[in-house]
Amino acid sequence: AQRNPGQPEFLQAVTEVMESLWPFIEKHPRYAEQALLERLVEPERVIMFRVSWFDDHGNVHVNRGYRIQHSMAVGPFKGGIRFHPSVTLSVLKFLAFEQTFKNALTTLPMGGGKGGSDFDPKGKSPTEIMRFCQAFVTELFRHVGPDTDVPAGDIGVGGREVGFMAGMYKKLANNAASVFTGKGLSFGGSLIRPEATGYGCVYFAQEMLATRGQSLEGKTVSVSGSGNVAQYSVEKAMQLGAKVVTVSDSSGTIYDPEGFTAEKLAILMDVKNHHYGRVNDYAKRTGVEFLPGKTPWHIPADVALPSATQNELDEQDARTLIKNGVLCVAEGANMPSTNEAAKVFETAGVLYAPGKASNAGGVATSGLEMSQNAQRLSWTRDEVDARLLQIMKSIHGACLQHGKRADGSVSYIDGANIAGFVKVADAMLAQGVV
Ligand code: NDP
Repeated sequence: AQRNPGQPEFLQAVTEVMESLWPFIEKHPRYAEQALLERLVEPERVIMFRVSWFDDHGNVHVNRGYRIQHSMAVGPFKGGIRFHPSVTLSVLKFLAFEQTFKNALTTLPMGGGKGGSDFDPKGKSPTEIMRFCQAFVTELFRHVGPDTDVPAGDIGVGGREVGFMAGMYKKLANNAASVFTGKGLSFGGSLIRPEATGYGCVYFAQEMLATRGQSLEGKTVSVSGSGNVAQYSVEKAMQLGAKVVTVSDSSGTIYDPEGFTAEKLAILMDVKNHHYGRVNDYAKRTGVEFLPGKTPWHIPADVALPSATQNELDEQDARTLIKNGVLCVAEGANMPSTNEAAKVFETAGVLYAPGKASNAGGVATSGLEMSQNAQRLSWTRDEVDARLLQIMKSIHGACLQHGKRADGSVSYIDGANIAGFVKVADAMLAQGVV
C-alpha cells in the first residue's frame, strides 16, 4: 500500500490474488524464490502521456493517456484500451494485473497489459471521436507492435474506435502489421470476436451449472451493463433457453419480467451501437420498465451476469441476490463484485466465477485473431466459436483442478488465481530475474 498510494482498485485486485496464493505457495515453496511475487505486482513499464485534441468548435482539450505493460513473461503485452472518465492509473493497473492471469488461463501465448484515457466518449460527435483516437495513437504507436504489445477494445472502445486507432497506427508506422485486435472484418478482424466475451461468459456459466446437474434452460438471468459484453451475454443466454430480465447502464436498469426476445435485443443494439443512446431510450422504444438510478441486483434471478464495470456489486447486493435464490454468478466485467461480495457468494455456496476466468473468452478470441493474422487466414464463424467453447471448458477445468477444497467444494477464485499464477510464475522462473 505504501508503494502504491491512492490506488485502491489495484490494491483490491492484488489482495484478492494474494489471499488465494499464500496457502498455495506455502505448499510449493519454489514459488517463493527470486522475489517472484514482488516482481509480479510491479508492472514492467507504465507509460503516461498527454493527449491534446480539437473539438468540433475549435476548442483544445487535454486528456491523460496510459498504457500499462504489466507482464511479457508469457507473450507480448496484451489487453484492451478503455475510454471512460473514471479511468485512473489505479484502475488501469488493476486491469493490467488481472489481464496477466486471465491471458495465462487461456493457454495462448499472451502477456498482460491495459491502457486507456479519462476521455468521455458520451456526447462526442463521430469526428471528435476520430480525432481523439488519432491523437491517442500519436503517442501510443511507438510503444506497441505485433510482438511487443497488442491492444484491443474495452469500455468506450468498440469496433469503430479500434478502426480509427489501427488506421492511424498504419499511417504513423508505415506498417500494416495487425497491432490491434477487435478489428473490423474488412481489415483483419475475426468472426465471433465481438460476441466472444459475452458468449464465453455464458458458456462458462453453463459449465458451472453442469457441475450441479443443471443448465440455463428455463433459468431467469439478470445482466448488468448494456455494452458489448452485456449484449452478447443476453443473446447467448436466450439461445440456451434462459429468460433474461434485466440490462442496465450508469443511468439505471431495465426490468422486463417477460424477458428479452431477439427483436428486443436488436432494438437494444440499435440504441446502443448505432445511436450511442441510453437504456431509457430503449425503454421508450419497447415500453418496458426503466428504473432510474437502480442496479439490477434487487431483482430475483437464478443466474447473475455482472457485465458493466468494477465494484458495481457490493456485499449488500450479494446478500440480496442470495436471499432471492441466486445459484450462479459469472462475471462478464472485470472485478464487478467487491472482494467482500465475492466472499459472501463463496461462503453461501453460490457458484461464483471471477471475471478473470469467466470473461477470458474475449481475449482468447483476440489470441485467435492474432493467429489468423499471422497465418494471413480467416477461419469460419463455426470454427472460431468451437475453439472459444473449448477454451472456456478448459479454463473451467483448470479452475476445478486448482480450486478444489478439502471438503470437495470448489473455489473458482482460488482456481483461477492459482492456475493463472502457475503458468506465469513458471515462465518467469525459466527466464531468470529480468
Ligand atoms: P462497453 O463500453 O461496451 O459497455 C460498458 C457498459 O457498462 C455500459 O452499459 C456502461 O454504461 C456501463 N458502465 C461503464 N462504466 C460504468 C460505471 N462507472 N457505472 C455504471 N455503469 C458503467 O464495454 P464492454 O461491454 O466492452 O465492457 C464491460 C466490462 O467487461 C468491463 O469491465 C470490461 O473491462 C469487461 N471486459 C470486456 C471485454 C471485451 O471484450 N469487450 C473482455 C473482457 C472484459 P454507460 O454507457 O452508462 O457508461
